[in-house]
Amino acid sequence: MDEFNDRVAIVTGGANGIGKALAQALGSAGAHVVIGDINDELGEQLVSQIVAAGGTASYKNTDVTDEQSLSRLIEETCASEGRIDYMFNNAGITVAGDSRDLTLDHWRKVTDVNYWGVVYGSKFAFDIMAKQGHGHIVNIASLAGLLPFPTNLPYSATKHAVVGLSMSLRAEGVDLGVKVSVVCPGFIHSNIFQASEMVNIPRTDIVENIPFKLVETHTAARKMLDGIARNKAVIVFPTYAKIFWLLYRIKHGLTNRFALKTIRDMRKMRGKVPPH
Ligand code: NAD
Repeated sequence: MDEFNDRVAIVTGGANGIGKALAQALGSAGAHVVIGDINDELGEQLVSQIVAAGGTASYKNTDVTDEQSLSRLIEETCASEGRIDYMFNNAGITVAGDSRDLTLDHWRKVTDVNYWGVVYGSKFAFDIMAKQGHGHIVNIASLAGLLPFPTNLPYSATKHAVVGLSMSLRAEGVDLGVKVSVVCPGFIHSNIFQASEMVNIPRTDIVENIPFKLVETHTAARKMLDGIARNKAVIVFPTYAKIFWLLYRIKHGLTNRFALKTIRDMRKMRGKVPPH
């Protein structure tokens, strides 16, 4: 994809999952990829892979919940590369469970990564891009940012916030030359289901009960870059996600049955956590 050739792209949470696939796709499209993550081992490994495949990449330990850490990643990239063309605010986590089993600490944990991490990344990148007069911020939200997602309340709430942030910033960016897109996919075959905390529900049951075929990360990355190249505002895939979003926009009640099934299925597993 020519659009990404010779461009400077930062990917947070780029060491694994969707971020990794994005970094690889950007690297093979000729971009200089800067990966920020808390997993140094996987981050360094990925840089070696991208370089071995003929691309250019670097890794910097970055915790998106830490304002200074993310500011350093963005400032130092801009200083060394002379500009930032793409900022992918991708790092994200979830804590799943019946809302009665979630504590406020669970809420804060998800909010720190999914909301504040995207606020910091968007704010710092936007300020630089507005001065440059160009740039594209890409925030990875979720279909759970467009529809209710019972069983994952903090996740859904933070992803809705990311959609609102992104669409508002997109409007502010128009006269400044800065583009903003938000990505809202359905289920993707990443590490998130192993990495996330499941409260009072067995992980294996949850993973086995995902009601849709998972999209592979490389397919997801391709769809995202395709939408970004066309400067789409909201990038939604696969087809079932588009259909659900359309139904929800026509009439909120049209997706109620699915939301109820999600919470009822989860409640059948609630409390059945096997001993460690
Ligand atoms: P993943 O768990 O496979 O990868 C997440 C990456 O983020 C990891 O490399 C992890 O080390 C990193 N990370 C976690 N906390 C961090 C922090 N504080 N600072 C920096 N990096 C951190 O998850 P994924 O599925 O690839 O998720 C990527 C994004 O895609 C998330 O925003 C997620 O919400 C979103 N998403 C995922 C799915 C899905 O089904 N997998 C669907 C829709 C949206």
